[in-house]
Amino acid sequence: MHWPAVCESREGGGGHRGRGGSSGMPPPFRIAVLGAQGVGKSAIVQRFLHDDYSDAAVSSRTRRVHLSAAVLNGHVHDLQITDYPAISSFPGSSLQEWSDVCCRGIRSAHVYILVYDICCFDSFEYVKTMRQQILETRVMGASETPILIVGNKRDLQRGRVIPRHNVSDLVRKSWKCGYVECSAKFNWHILLLFGEALRSVGCVRCKHVHATIRFQRALRRERCTLM
Ligand code: GDP
Ligand code: MG
Repeated sequence: MHWPAVCESREGGGGHRGRGGSSGMPPPFRIAVLGAQGVGKSAIVQRFLHDDYSDAAVSSRTRRVHLSAAVLNGHVHDLQITDYPAISSFPGSSLQEWSDVCCRGIRSAHVYILVYDICCFDSFEYVKTMRQQILETRVMGASETPILIVGNKRDLQRGRVIPRHNVSDLVRKSWKCGYVECSAKFNWHILLLFGEALRSVGCVRCKHVHATIRFQRALRRERCTLM
């Protein structure tokens, strides 16, 4: 089976309509990456899309929309990964969503990846709050939108502030969400977490994690261009 991929990645976002809609293509599969400042959201996305990592902290107040496309089984599929800044609250209405440029498109994501830093208690509190607000405010009919909780910086395991099994039990048993720990720095479980995200929505174009693995390998071959 041949899985050629083309990938384009764009920062800023807004206004892009992808190849979906009038052309008959399926709409982009939208992944929203949320979390407190400094937990490693951008590092995770960068690692996944470009297999790249930097120790330099880059503070960003804007959302970054990364578009990629893969040709799978002869069909082009769009993937839209939005790396959001640390928003103060999840928008409770469409009006709030569109009046704050940082939040645009957030309520219509197909899956939420909520990232915290395993060494930072406050960042887990942020995830808790965000999850609660998503449950309370997300748009009618999207109540099934899956949420994946991600503990990043696993390489700093010695500085962990909450035992792993406590978080895992809470997330999996009480919240009924997926839970993955990863390290963007060491490229550990990055692929797994995106595979989980895709699987959680039963994405037809990536029915199992192997598809995602082949997808990412293809991305690596065809280096992405920043626009
Ligand atoms: P964001 O604000 O959530 O987008 O966080 P960034 O991606 O900008 O990362 C914040 C800082 O954490 C940067 O200095 C990164 O190099 C660092 N960082 C990100 N991921 C990891 C990781 O897995 N391990 C370690 N040790 N540092 C990380
Ligand atoms: Mg960032």
